Amino acid sequence: MAHLLNAIDRQLAAWFEARGQGAYRVGQVRRWLFAQRVAGFAEMTDLPQAVREELARDFTVWSTEIARHTRAEDGTEKLLLTLADGGQIECVLLREGPSPGLSPEGRGIRRTICISTQVGCGMGCVFCASGLEGVERNLTTGEIVEQMLRLQMLLGADERLSHVVVMGMGEPLANLDALLPALEEASREDGLGISHRRITISTVGLPKAMRRLAETDPRYRLAVSLHAPNDALRRQIVPISEKIPLADILAEADHYFERSGRRLTFEYVLLAGLNDRPAQAAELADLLAGRTAIVNVIPYNPVAGLPYRTPSVAAQRAFRQTLESRGVSVHFRHRKGDAIDAACGQLRRRSKESRVKSREPDTRGRGRPGSLALDS
Ligand code: SF4
Repeated sequence: MAHLLNAIDRQLAAWFEARGQGAYRVGQVRRWLFAQRVAGFAEMTDLPQAVREELARDFTVWSTEIARHTRAEDGTEKLLLTLADGGQIECVLLREGPSPGLSPEGRGIRRTICISTQVGCGMGCVFCASGLEGVERNLTTGEIVEQMLRLQMLLGADERLSHVVVMGMGEPLANLDALLPALEEASREDGLGISHRRITISTVGLPKAMRRLAETDPRYRLAVSLHAPNDALRRQIVPISEKIPLADILAEADHYFERSGRRLTFEYVLLAGLNDRPAQAAELADLLAGRTAIVNVIPYNPVAGLPYRTPSVAAQRAFRQTLESRGVSVHFRHRKGDAIDAACGQLRRRSKESRVKSREPDTRGRGRPGSLALDS
């Protein structure tokens, strides 16, 4: 059975044409999936019953199963999804601002989804649960779209998605071929209808892939994960940077800015005693001087079994003040959903551990760290 979300228009157009049905049927199915948030063909009531039944025989909308659904008090919800081949990925819905009923004009309301692009990750950032066992495989376009639709279905009837961040498990730019068509579905008017400027693609910094994105589709926001103000420290935190100097990454970030006109974001996970000193903040400010950019500082969310810690409030404040005193725009991203292991990869890791403890046979193929070809 074909996964409909892999190529909705192409598959449906051919299917309806073969049955002598008008092309407008494609739009009907799209409306049910994206606007009406239905769970399957049976609910698409403006399609003839026989057509719905035949669609259900030929296509599946959902290729994943929800292995776990957790919700934190702050409204953050997280899904652990099991893929058809047994691999697992995570995706998150973050709620910010009042509930829509309390702010009729919608001011300050954000409903952001964070999605994954790979099973595991080959970048090996030392603080991250997702990279601990390397990358198993790239996700398909359908598996990426499916995360968005599943998360949208968690919203109340008066809520709508406002932002997408591609910052979940995996390195997004290592899977651009599948990601770009999926983001097209996010931005299309007859898709999720989310403006390109509200869609952010994160990267650890793969220069060739950054260039490719700049040349093919620079409408999205780009967030570059730095985590260190110099190459020596970055090599300790982001092992892949052994082969990729900061200067090359910043040159491509600048090129992307020229092409897109969109302010760059630089991500910096703040790790106690490692990269959180005021002198390092000053070095970071010097590194980014003259750029139209914002630095997103994320105080570390500890992962069980890893030795890294959250910096003290005083250290966070000093880091911020040093950056701001040097003219850097700073945003501190406060941790949301701590109670549900919202940091990337933690839920999947716990699930894997409990599978091992219960001796559940794991029939999946084993990925090696970095075993996917990188477009660096
Ligand atoms: S932080 Fe991102 S790029 Fe680094 S290992 Fe984790 S998922 Fe991969």
